[in-house]
Amino acid sequence: MNELRELYQEVIVDHSKNPRNFRAINDGVSAEGFNPLCGDQLTLYVRLAGDIIEDISFLGNGCAISKASASMMTQVLKSKTQAEALALFDSMHGLLTKGPQDSDLDALGKLAALAGVWEFPARVKCASLAWHTFRNAITGSQKPVSTE
Ligand code: ZN
Repeated sequence: MNELRELYQEVIVDHSKNPRNFRAINDGVSAEGFNPLCGDQLTLYVRLAGDIIEDISFLGNGCAISKASASMMTQVLKSKTQAEALALFDSMHGLLTKGPQDSDLDALGKLAALAGVWEFPARVKCASLAWHTFRNAITGSQKPVSTE
């Protein structure tokens, strides 16, 4: 388990230092997210082609967990349908609030690197911020995401 933990930490550090899809998308929809407990803030961009997430990206500032979570999320959600993306949202929410379960980890793939966050309740909001903001972006909610 310790080896796994170290591997997970490497993944998180890598994504926080070199966030993937860290750019704006000008011809899509966007949503703002803010986690006042930690000071994480991000803008999430999505471009849909019908039901498919054709492109997804983010910009913002925050702690390593919030950046890594957003970076990994954009990688995983690209080319997914909206329904698949919302199912992943539910799996991710379950992982962060109830802890890892085997079926969750299989479905989540590399997102399982964030499983350890579950043990640190103050960090759960850092990891879930991007996901809540993504859901707002595709459902068209104009209300800014605040984890408070
Ligand atoms: Zn944070």
